[in-house]
Amino acid sequence: MPEARSASFISGSRREYVSTTNACKMCMPLGAALAFRGVEGSVPFLHGSQGCATYMRRYLISHFREPMDIASSSLGEKHAVYGGGPNLKLGLMNVANKYGARLIGIATTCLTETIGDDVPLILKEFKRETGANFDGQKGPYLVFASTPSYSGTHKDGFLAATRALLAQVAAKKPGSRHEVGVFPGLVSPADIRYLKEILSDFGLSGTIVPDISDPLDAPAAEEYQRIPPGGTPIAEIESLGRARAFVDLGRLVKGRRSPAEVLKERFGLKTYHLGLPIGLRETDRFFEALSEISGSPIPEKHLLERGRLIDAMVDAHKYLFGQKVVVYGEEDLVVGLTSFLAEIGARPVLCATGDRQKDFPDAISQVTNDILPEPPRVAVGVDFYGIAGLCEELSPDIFLGHSKGYHLARKMGLPLVRVGFPIHDRFGAQRIMHLGYRGALALLDRLVNAIIERRQETSSVGYTYI
Ligand code: SF4
Repeated sequence: MPEARSASFISGSRREYVSTTNACKMCMPLGAALAFRGVEGSVPFLHGSQGCATYMRRYLISHFREPMDIASSSLGEKHAVYGGGPNLKLGLMNVANKYGARLIGIATTCLTETIGDDVPLILKEFKRETGANFDGQKGPYLVFASTPSYSGTHKDGFLAATRALLAQVAAKKPGSRHEVGVFPGLVSPADIRYLKEILSDFGLSGTIVPDISDPLDAPAAEEYQRIPPGGTPIAEIESLGRARAFVDLGRLVKGRRSPAEVLKERFGLKTYHLGLPIGLRETDRFFEALSEISGSPIPEKHLLERGRLIDAMVDAHKYLFGQKVVVYGEEDLVVGLTSFLAEIGARPVLCATGDRQKDFPDAISQVTNDILPEPPRVAVGVDFYGIAGLCEELSPDIFLGHSKGYHLARKMGLPLVRVGFPIHDRFGAQRIMHLGYRGALALLDRLVNAIIERRQETSSVGYTYI
């Protein structure tokens, strides 16, 4: 066993400045709205001012290139003084009537958290006043998540909304029983489609919560649909308590009332807490877990994909070996990508996140300790001002992260391989694959080609054979 080492840790709160410059995270209710969008027949609803919903819609539409309605209680100055309860009730009634929603996912914003609106109490009053027609049976479910943006990131909002969905909707109803509940966190629609294919290849019927694959990567429709089809069926969430096992994906959700932990508290079933299956080893663990749950061996099709990935890793080694990579973004994604970089011979020199999860450095150590000769630097709660300062010292060769790092990559004249969320300056973000053997192979190709392209661009000779 190699000696246990800690990745060197840097906090984002540097003594010399207190502001955030080009944040490496997004707003907490944005993540909640995204998670609520992944439930069939749902409408995300922000309790706050109109501007918050506009900003979030702009961000989500630009990444997914799909329409994204987010309702708002549209508060103004008056409500900041007297409270936003009446607007929230009116807005909920409008959404229920105009959209015919089966579920309204309500998230708070900075404003309503700061003025202290007691949303659970307002919802209770609303149900009483409307004759309890908002209980998921006679009317839509009203699912509430508290998401004060100043206390977390979009990842925390996504987790809070998923947790709220499971705590408030999951039950043991008879009906469409699915064998396994999978909670992948914030991954792409293409990743979710691939997860469904894997579950089906194991012969498992699975419920993925939330499932943004169809609502946020939909076929062209002749007419605008206010609520796009797709998303996790509510009936499946209502019968999750009868599943065989629950699987959390993401090393850092464990111990934070993760989706599987919430369900285990309520239904006491077997839970698996795995890393996001990015790269070879994390994907192997995921496939082993599915093999155990299903009682079936890993299907041949996936073993062949694994073999092709290893073959490509061998071929790519001469391009990737020793390449210094700065990887940043949402914490679980960074852990998965770092694990992958370490196993393909690259050198992750900086692992940075705008999240503030204190276990992040440990998670990075766990996936690199036995492979890397030198642990990467780790930055938590950092912005791009902080990342730029560290890059001066580390002289990286390539960036791996979302498109908010573009300015820095451009300034340093380095390639940026875009992954995660948000991606506003490239096309096809919803189709980027990160997970599994297939996703690893796609990422490997993109990394190698970015390195080759840079060599060509910076060469005075103009090689065509590299
Ligand atoms: S950070 Fe706060 S004020 Fe800004 S968009 Fe998010 S919820 Fe609204």
